[in-house]
Amino acid sequence: MAEDLPVVVITGASRGIGRATALAFAAHPARVVVNFHRSATEAETVAQEVERCGGQALLVQADVSQPDQVETLFQRVTEQWGRVDVLVNNAGITRDGLLVRMKDEDWHAVINLNLHGVFYCTRAAVKVMMRQKSGRIINITSIAGVMGNPGQVNYSAAKAGVIGLTRTVAKEYASRGITVNAVAPGFIATEMTAELKKDEWLKLIPLGRFGEPEEVAGLVAFLGLHPAARYITGQVFHVDGGLVMG
Ligand code: NAP
Repeated sequence: MAEDLPVVVITGASRGIGRATALAFAAHPARVVVNFHRSATEAETVAQEVERCGGQALLVQADVSQPDQVETLFQRVTEQWGRVDVLVNNAGITRDGLLVRMKDEDWHAVINLNLHGVFYCTRAAVKVMMRQKSGRIINITSIAGVMGNPGQVNYSAAKAGVIGLTRTVAKEYASRGITVNAVAPGFIATEMTAELKKDEWLKLIPLGRFGEPEEVAGLVAFLGLHPAARYITGQVFHVDGGLVMG
């Protein structure tokens, strides 16, 4: 029955890794909240694809860097479906530049979405999950937050912050039946990496190619819904073709 299907909220699900994650959960099947900010047409297509895969879709526009919009997003979800089983904090942007040339607005834009947005959504979801005494949260961080990356001081700082947030929230709410993990992709073929000069990076990736969004989505869906993932919390999983080891 539809009411038995898990409710999965995915931020930034209109394209890239978020879209692939929405479809991976839909195939389970699940009730999938397809959040987007600007790409309404793409998000509508994802919602249709979710339904074609056997899931149910709820399309919600919200800029998740804005706390009031995050509150409205979770209100819409609980009014419609009454619960939140899984939250995937996926929405993210880059505004690259070397430290000395980085404008304040580019620093703040990236921290506001990639770190503050994760905090707002996690806080809202945990309030619902505490009442349920269950829930799973998966935060999409990056290898840049683990090893640093020249030109991405804002992005690396936000993604490293997400790892600290993940471990702390995992410890705070384990006793309430809530698990919290992070997935750190390497280079994945999406719009975010479309402009990169690939050749230099390819030499450093043992598997010799960029990853596909579906290769991240598979792990996220496992952590979100698979019974075997229930004893995993506070961890950071790399999906990077072997770029970062140890
Ligand atoms: P992408 O193709 O650029 O997609 C970004 C998504 O975020 C879009 O759906 C976009 O929706 C949404 N978004 C942007 N601003 C938003 C806002 N203020 N509120 C809500 N949604 C917003 O990026 P991607 O490559 O799939 O990346 C997804 C996540 O993986 C990000 O957190 C990124 O940092 C991380 N990651 C990516 C890579 C990679 O190689 N691609 C590597 C490591 C980590 P709208 O267009 O509707 O605004």
